[in-house]
Amino acid sequence: MIIEVKDVNKVYKNGKIEVRALNKVNLSVERGEFVSIMGPSGSGKSTLMNILGCLDRATSGKYILDGMDVSNLNDVELARIRNLKIGFVFQSFNLLPRMTALRNVELPMIYAKVNAKERKRRAEMALERVGLKDRMNHKPNEMSGGQKQRVAIARALVNDPAIILADEPTGNLDSYSGEEIMDLFQELNREGVTIILVTHEPDIAQHTKRIVTFRDGHLKSDVTVQKPLDAK
Ligand code: ADP
Ligand code: ADP
Repeated sequence: MIIEVKDVNKVYKNGKIEVRALNKVNLSVERGEFVSIMGPSGSGKSTLMNILGCLDRATSGKYILDGMDVSNLNDVELARIRNLKIGFVFQSFNLLPRMTALRNVELPMIYAKVNAKERKRRAEMALERVGLKDRMNHKPNEMSGGQKQRVAIARALVNDPAIILADEPTGNLDSYSGEEIMDLFQELNREGVTIILVTHEPDIAQHTKRIVTFRDGHLKSDVTVQKPLDAK
């Protein structure tokens, strides 16, 4: 198992007000899975993704990531694990506007202290992998939404993370570009990349092999289809 979430509760405290965002959540994900997380607004999806991404900790329960219990790590240790193990893809791409695609993809390797020559080599490979070999020296405002998201996916891949966490990755794209991004995720998944994505759109979730639905902080359903429905 790459992810084991055991009896996780999350309670937010704002002064005297407590919000139970996750309630006894159990979820296991194997290496190489492709999972959609669905559910209405406020059902706990972001809270779960923050915990899976080592951006936040559960109030109680266990989170084991790639064999390591990360439930009780301090912020510094958690940040280290995050940089090592997690690739993030966001709805709004989060690229640095003044940097080329190549530079944006190099960023995680700067934090990981990879030398300049190796950084460039790996960033070029990652951009090639997402089909952007001919756009490496373009800046984000010279690219379409779908291309920007592919740069972000290259950036997420470049340190060879244990999992990719994508939060509404198609939310800012037209449906054609959204389908292209899901095709790319499917291709990466076939190559063995483990992907967990949050989406509101059933059409997007249909591209994944497994759909987990949340409601009021509970895991409400967990459905695996034998064969993912391919695009088109
Ligand atoms: P979703 O991503 O499904 O919309 P969230 O995980 O963002 O759901 O939120 C789950 C519940 O926790 C909601 O009731 C939300 O208002 C609450 N919540 C989320 N983050 C915080 C926070 N930082 N402080 C207090 N309450 C929060
Ligand atoms: P999403 O659109 O991904 O569901 P949300 O709108 O639920 O995101 O939350 C956006 C951010 O605001 C998150 O970081 C979440 O933790 C925080 N948040 C959500 N609800 C509350 C709340 N009631 N109080 C404080 N922070 C909140």
